[in-house]
Amino acid sequence: MSELVQSIREKYLRALENIAEAARGAGRDPAGVRLVTVTKTQSVDVVRAAIEAGIPILGENYPEEGVMKIQSLLNFSAVEWHMIGHVQSRKAQLVAENFNFLHSLDSLKLAKKLDRFCGEAARILPVLLEFNVGGEESKSGWDASDESRWSALLGDVSAVIALPNLQLRGLMTMPPLGETAEFSRPFFRKLKRLQTYLQERFPQTSLSELSMGASADYEVAVQEGATFVRIGTSIVGARQYKTEV
Ligand SMILES: *Cc1c(COP(=O)(O)O)cnc(C)c1O
Repeated sequence: MSELVQSIREKYLRALENIAEAARGAGRDPAGVRLVTVTKTQSVDVVRAAIEAGIPILGENYPEEGVMKIQSLLNFSAVEWHMIGHVQSRKAQLVAENFNFLHSLDSLKLAKKLDRFCGEAARILPVLLEFNVGGEESKSGWDASDESRWSALLGDVSAVIALPNLQLRGLMTMPPLGETAEFSRPFFRKLKRLQTYLQERFPQTSLSELSMGASADYEVAVQEGATFVRIGTSIVGARQYKTEV
């Protein structure tokens, strides 16, 4: 095993241990939490090393960058590729044709486009609805900051459920950036309450997935019910910002 593979594997296993400990501490089964390793901005070599380290689920933020990696690493077909970043409508086809899961469905317009392209590609795409629970202007997702206005979300949720080629599985959020992990807790709780609210209104659709928590706050997210955590820097290191990957 190369040094890079070894180092990624150690960090990945440590994150899994931390997740298991947080789950058990909260009375949850650790098997109910899946770790998405976020490789955005990392080179194909780093992503290959992550796969060789035994990582089964990779998360990417930018459709073109993700598709380039997926196509460079096609022989690793057992890996699941999750899109976790904002998808512009004109990138819907790339996502529909290449990714296994979308965490960041943030508009009905995008949902309809994805549904059409999935239909043409004869694929079903599992999706999560992204909610902006902190109410920040800069964040994508349906604004769910004001609990007294959650009923305004029901029309779009119902419309997504009705799309035949998308399979709605649950909810996702990115809380506002805070100084400590505890800062995220009320936002994770709010997403959990929203899950309960929507599940009661759409009992025929299982909305059991909750994607929340990154390097800085994933243990808190697990305590609050996350079924997916999305961890980048603490497994694959600092992001590699540059124009090409
Ligand atoms: C980058 C990113 C992550 C991972 O963040 P880290 O702090 O590197 O763990 C998680 N979720 C989303 C949506 C991201 O864009």
